[in-house]
Amino acid sequence: MEKRKIVQLLTLVLFAVLIVIGKIQLWMAIFGVSLLLSTYFGRFYCGYICPINTAMELIDDNAEKKKRKRNQVPKVFKNPIIRYAILILFLGAMVIVFKTGKKLPVLPILFGSGIIITIFYKPEFWHRYLCPYGALLSIFSRLNKKTYMIHNESCIKCGKCVDICPSDAIAWDDKKAYPIIIKNECLQCGKCIEVCPTDSIR
Ligand code: SF4
Ligand code: SF4
Repeated sequence: MEKRKIVQLLTLVLFAVLIVIGKIQLWMAIFGVSLLLSTYFGRFYCGYICPINTAMELIDDNAEKKKRKRNQVPKVFKNPIIRYAILILFLGAMVIVFKTGKKLPVLPILFGSGIIITIFYKPEFWHRYLCPYGALLSIFSRLNKKTYMIHNESCIKCGKCVDICPSDAIAWDDKKAYPIIIKNECLQCGKCIEVCPTDSIR
């Protein structure tokens, strides 16, 4: 089993244990540390730690294996205003939780939403356009120093990396001449590296 999958499995177990013992708020500490570290390492939380993504990957892998067709991202959601409006709502809910001590089931709601979205849509709909955790990490990851790069000299522009990316983090440049990785949207899942026929992503 690849290293990333082992880390995902372990963090999913930890997440489940915290739910069972009623200490799920501790997960926010893990997220907080990951958010700070994302200024250097990028959105590694999404690719390695996030229980929502771990569950989504299981559904996504299964859908890909069965070649089950899913919807593309609705155009209207590509407007960044929607992403940031969701983020503001999420932060508002967090403020209520901290100020009143009320236990709002924010994380379980997001967990369920991520899973339902992945059943009907490609995962980039969630990772790039809906998830408020992802939006926050994406803002902090703009400072990220550790990022995957595409080496244009060896790239044959087959587009396989663009197609497989679960976060819409690989786009063609303005002249559509070569693909580029948007560093603060990359989940560090390594899927593009696996499909690249020329070993151009490092
Ligand atoms: S497929 Fe590549 S660019 Fe896309 S999220 Fe995974 S590692 Fe990042
Ligand atoms: S998969 Fe590799 S060769 Fe194909 S476009 Fe992406 S970087 Fe270039």
